[in-house]
Amino acid sequence: MIEDPDGTMLYLNGVSVSFDGFKALNALSIIVHPNEMLAIIGPNGAGKTTMMDIITGKTRPDDGQVYFNGRTDLTKLDEATIANLGIGRKFQKPTVFESHTVWDNLVLSLKTPRDVFSALFYTRSAADNARIEEILDTVRLTKRQNELAADLSHGQKQWLEVGMLLAQDPKLLLVDEPVAGMTDAETVETAKLLKEIAKTRSVVVVEHDMSFVRELGTRVTCLAEGTVLAEGTLDQVSANPVVIERYLGR
Ligand code: ADP
Ligand code: MG
Repeated sequence: MIEDPDGTMLYLNGVSVSFDGFKALNALSIIVHPNEMLAIIGPNGAGKTTMMDIITGKTRPDDGQVYFNGRTDLTKLDEATIANLGIGRKFQKPTVFESHTVWDNLVLSLKTPRDVFSALFYTRSAADNARIEEILDTVRLTKRQNELAADLSHGQKQWLEVGMLLAQDPKLLLVDEPVAGMTDAETVETAKLLKEIAKTRSVVVVEHDMSFVRELGTRVTCLAEGTVLAEGTLDQVSANPVVIERYLGR
């Protein structure tokens, strides 16, 4: 197989899972390093979302290794524990608190002390405010901070949700089809902000929009039928005859 899990942020080796006899993932092996972004492309039903379900503990694999940040075995942990370890997941549909301001959405998402005693006596510090301002800047919402989330555009709601995940300070961010329904300008901006985020954490982005994947300018893995079809730069992957036949040429 691939390489040693030590020093990797995410390590999937030979991961398989079946649903009613159908192999959604078939010996899938993927590695993501610290502060690296990986783009995942591939046809509908390739297993991209199932892969994220396995990483976040929503689905258990039948076979294979799933390690986080070295050798933390994610197949032994529940969803809440995995999230607390530092894996944030952005689903396709934004889930922000519509009746709260942008600022308050971020405050509500901040990682705060977990035990009851500390939580009772926890007061928001200047450091928290600075952190929120930094996140607002990253997700392009500084000017909208006092507006209700309900009044944001669809794209801005997606950015706010990315900001809410950043408030949890994840080591690994999983993002499933972030630019679906965005304007072209928002799509370009989303690529920029994800690239900024990936300077300090690992990011896995699943996306169909090839112009967006090109903007990301990162390593690409093409999945089909639950396994890796091709890996490399977008140019390498999209010139691969099997990728053209099974995905791009359709
Ligand atoms: P993608 O995100 O690449 O489009 P998915 O991971 O959503 O693909 O799905 C891969 C295959 O696994 C599909 O055929 C889908 O119907 C099936 N599948 C995914 N999750 C489940 C589940 N919980 N139960 C049954 N089948 C599932
Ligand atoms: Mg999917």
